[in-house]
Amino acid sequence: MSINKYKVTSGKNFKLENYETVPGGSPVFDKTNRAEVLIRNRDEIRALQSRLYADGKAALLVLFQGMDGGGKDSAIRNVIGVMPQGVMVHSFKQPSTEELAHDYLWRAVKVLPERGMIAIFNRSYYEDVLVVKVHELYKNLNILERCKDEKTIERRCNQIKNFENYLWENGILTVKIFMHLSLDEQRKRFLKRIEREDKNWKFSGTDMKERGHWPKYQAAFEYAIASTSTEKNPWWIVPADRKPYTHAVVSQIILEKLKEIDPHYPSVSEQQLKVLADSKDILLKQAE
Ligand code: AMP
Ligand code: MG
Repeated sequence: MSINKYKVTSGKNFKLENYETVPGGSPVFDKTNRAEVLIRNRDEIRALQSRLYADGKAALLVLFQGMDGGGKDSAIRNVIGVMPQGVMVHSFKQPSTEELAHDYLWRAVKVLPERGMIAIFNRSYYEDVLVVKVHELYKNLNILERCKDEKTIERRCNQIKNFENYLWENGILTVKIFMHLSLDEQRKRFLKRIEREDKNWKFSGTDMKERGHWPKYQAAFEYAIASTSTEKNPWWIVPADRKPYTHAVVSQIILEKLKEIDPHYPSVSEQQLKVLADSKDILLKQAE
């Protein structure tokens, strides 16, 4: 079984309900080797990330979307670990007044990765077609009337698709991960956040309110994913109800993308080789 069963390359007939939230009959990784896979993949990701950085020819944008409790933070923590040089994480919260005065992609464009870098987005510009659609927040914008009509979300999804194509054509590749969580698993995770003192800080009344809009959110995700899934910039619908499985799958997706980029350490010139050899000679002779 390959992770490709979670990959969406076209919006045609896309339905979220056709995707599992728990690893089903034929899981990609067995229960027994999920932790092992994660550790091995994390090491390989590290090695490739270091080459990507040295090579400097491509950038990687990994973005996570999903409901509260979907495990975005823990996936980032577990798959990447301590952030090495060349990896940046950005969280997208409610926009500030300054951000709202700009076009919605502005704040994301500011933190796009330069070549050689990996940027991880914890939420992203997709919020502008998700929470903004569910609560019709675009209607509150101080903007021309034609820019906030009933077609706004449709236009934005199209803009996002074009934007990601633009990124691809400019050497910035995306990995778009949807943490596919069930309503019942969210209930359990919320309860845990309430019952465990060390998790209280993660819970807010807003999370409960948003849970009340579950069907609207699922519809918004379905629409956004269907409108922006392409061969070059596919979405990944990752089962999110079992964290060890989720982490193994996410690590595999990122690893395969890095392998596809296939970065190399820059080759050393003749002149540089001579500098290395001469320096080695001098250093060896300096030994006591
Ligand atoms: P969290 O990631 O759980 O800390 O929460 C961040 C909150 O900011 C979520 O409720 C998001 O829906 C919200 N948020 C992020 N981007 C936007 C946006 N563009 N417009 C409105 N709310 C947003
Ligand atoms: Mg939250």
